[in-house]
Amino acid sequence: MRLVLLGPPGSGKGTQATRLKTELSVPHISTGDMLRAAVAAGTPTGLKAKAVMDAGKLVSDDILLAMLEERLSQDDVKNGFILDGYPRNLAQADAMDHLLAKIGQPLDAVVKLEVPNEAIIARCEIRFAAEHRKDDDPVVVRDRLKVYAEQTAPVADFFARRGKLQVVDGVGELDEVTARVKRALAAESAAANG
Ligand code: AMP
Repeated sequence: MRLVLLGPPGSGKGTQATRLKTELSVPHISTGDMLRAAVAAGTPTGLKAKAVMDAGKLVSDDILLAMLEERLSQDDVKNGFILDGYPRNLAQADAMDHLLAKIGQPLDAVVKLEVPNEAIIARCEIRFAAEHRKDDDPVVVRDRLKVYAEQTAPVADFFARRGKLQVVDGVGELDEVTARVKRALAAESAAANG
């Protein structure tokens, strides 16, 4: 299963990916986690990315594509992956398309978790208090939501136009949201198998 999870910051992509990866036996690839690891390790990529991430803006497409290409060349993605946090703009969606075609691993499904902005803001406040991520500061969260609306929302339309988008209500108990995602994946695979 090659799955992309879309949705605004704090919509639960990471939480749901963590739950689904065991059931689907595929790795969870979070570009945000990869970048945070690069920042923590002080790599050249991390040094470039830190200020951009703290401000809630997007790190450059070149850095992200190189990271993704490297990650998708590893052995553990042979049976698929759950991609969380990429693509975040149309240029990335296009680059991913080319990369997946090149490596012969087309996407099976794209699921968007829908959560209203007020709920996002409340969730990020809780995460800010627990984890102290600079980009969960309420002021930065508003900027991230703006970046999402302007740059990432069109990515959902990009997949919808190809009939590849499943939209799932991301509000509710974790188990319920997981069940909705699984139903969406089953619907997608039924549609793919005619
Ligand atoms: P996340 O954990 O997915 O919310 O990502 C945290 C931050 O990492 C984002 O606010 C961006 O600054 C950066 N980031 C993660 N993924 C991408 C991406 N695909 N393109 C650009 N920046 C990204």
